[in-house]
Amino acid sequence: MKTAQVAAEEPPGPLVQHASNSSRSIGPSRFRISKRSVEFLHRFYPDATLENWNDWRWQNRNRVRTLADLARMIELSDEESDAIKRHTGALPVGITPYYVSLLDPQNAGQGLRRTVVPVLGECESSRAESEDPLGEDSHSPVPGLVHRYPNRVLLLVTNYCSVYCRYCTRARMVGATGERSVKKGDIELALDYIEQTKAVRDVLISGGDPLSLDDDRLEYILKRLQKIKHVEFVRIGSKQPVVQPMRITPQLTRMLKRCHPLWMSLHFTHPDELTPEVAEACSRLADAGIPLGSQTVLLKVVNDDLDTMKTLMHGLLKNRVKPYYLYQCDPISGSAHFRTPVAKGVELIRRLRGHTTGYAVPTFVVDAPNGGGKIPISPDYVTGYDGDDLLLQSYDGDTYRYPDSGQRLTRGPGA
Ligand code: SF4
Repeated sequence: MKTAQVAAEEPPGPLVQHASNSSRSIGPSRFRISKRSVEFLHRFYPDATLENWNDWRWQNRNRVRTLADLARMIELSDEESDAIKRHTGALPVGITPYYVSLLDPQNAGQGLRRTVVPVLGECESSRAESEDPLGEDSHSPVPGLVHRYPNRVLLLVTNYCSVYCRYCTRARMVGATGERSVKKGDIELALDYIEQTKAVRDVLISGGDPLSLDDDRLEYILKRLQKIKHVEFVRIGSKQPVVQPMRITPQLTRMLKRCHPLWMSLHFTHPDELTPEVAEACSRLADAGIPLGSQTVLLKVVNDDLDTMKTLMHGLLKNRVKPYYLYQCDPISGSAHFRTPVAKGVELIRRLRGHTTGYAVPTFVVDAPNGGGKIPISPDYVTGYDGDDLLLQSYDGDTYRYPDSGQRLTRGPGA
């Protein structure tokens, strides 16, 4: 009965042949929509159309923000309900209907669900946690701009995200004091600072999520940066293509194409995010000539096992996204339940490197507290010297010799 109703309400449109044959293109921008989305829409938003669903502004307007709304869509565990009721921290709850449709309604232990639905661990602070573990606020010469490395800056253009990740490093500011983009005057101050600071050759635009800005506002910022001669290229960090893939409209990609050279880092967490809709969003961005890299935070129970991590990395490559960074989870307040030992990240990289395509292996980094920047931590494949032979261990544990005369390799403090 339900299937017949769904079919009758879908406007005619050509089936698109992609990774899944259970999706089709809908809406003014002919965005792909999966059978799963259609079923979810009809169940929980019976008055909305498929065009509504594929309109990113509709997704924003209909974000799930309250316990009552979430409880209507998924079976909340007692712990999740308590955590939402007790929620006092800065980071609000907010999930797009699209992203809720990816959550397992019956399983509170599902990795993806743990990343967006609060649990009680969020209410507890542990040793060495802080609101601003990276010391960004102390490296901010003007509002909305972080200048931590000499030749590049972080430009924060909004505190809005359509989905709030419970492990967010900027939980102190995103969504906290009313969701809004940074004031025009502050953006101008930041752009002036970049203009006057000739050492800056690379600008990373982040937030919040910069792709939550409308096209005109984002284009203004990108064009201003394009005109600054010493800025060689711009990067955008975003989770929008993952949590609200319909944001990647033809209008947006046309605009982004006018703002090259432009790179993009997409925030992926789990293979459950690799849907037909996300494939379409990544494909549109890649077709616009934007090199795509991924950033993934290593999270306990969510993605800290080899199968999950490898499936995610392989899936990213299929979607034309190069796995870029795997981050050790920052010690923000209330994040102990997400944090793994650093050794877990090193072990995962060791079990990927050589065992799969090199492109699928991200760089594992610890973002050093108090502004030390990203410090890569790799497995050690050098076991020592035998005379002039450097002794190396291969990915599968065998030892090899490399004739290495001259300067000796030193490793680590005191090596
Ligand atoms: S998308 Fe990024 S900035 Fe927004 S809540 Fe998630 S981690 Fe934080």
